[in-house]
Amino acid sequence: MITAVYPGSFDPITNGHLDIIKRSAKTFDKLIVAVLNNPNKTPMFDLEERVDLIRQSISDLNNVEIDCFSGLLIDYMQNKNVNVIIKGLRAISDFEYEFQMALMNRKLNKEIETLFMMTNSDYSYLSSSLVKEAFRFGGNIENLVPDIVIQKMKEKL
Ligand code: ADP
Repeated sequence: MITAVYPGSFDPITNGHLDIIKRSAKTFDKLIVAVLNNPNKTPMFDLEERVDLIRQSISDLNNVEIDCFSGLLIDYMQNKNVNVIIKGLRAISDFEYEFQMALMNRKLNKEIETLFMMTNSDYSYLSSSLVKEAFRFGGNIENLVPDIVIQKMKEKL
């Protein structure tokens, strides 16, 4: 049985994330979506809200678990006894950073493999920060994030 971890900030979850989650859930026996608690950043949604939005967006997937972590991803994975990291790749601009991260993580623990999944072309330009920016200035973000996210964003404003 192979379990993979899909880490990220998910502030908030977008349809691009959701696409990676669905495809990974099909590819692996189990997927853990691991939400990063980063004390150096002020998110739009706190950890609990981000987890909640993911939970409501994936209620139809029964082999996906949601969890939180802080500190080193490698340490979290060792504790969970999982050794596959899933990352989404949108563009060449993602590549350099992800390449660095993957090599650093392998240096820290050579048992852990990072696997990359290409974005769905419909969402290749999509990021949480761009969605938030568009929304702040009144842009229509329908079809870019789950409806529940739009609802919660409206409540925030
Ligand atoms: P963002 O870059 O949107 O702020 P996160 O830190 O939450 O996102 O990203 C978590 C993971 O999801 C990363 O591996 C990132 O490359 C991937 N990802 C984010 N948006 C997309 C997308 N539209 N298509 C594919 N992968 C994506």
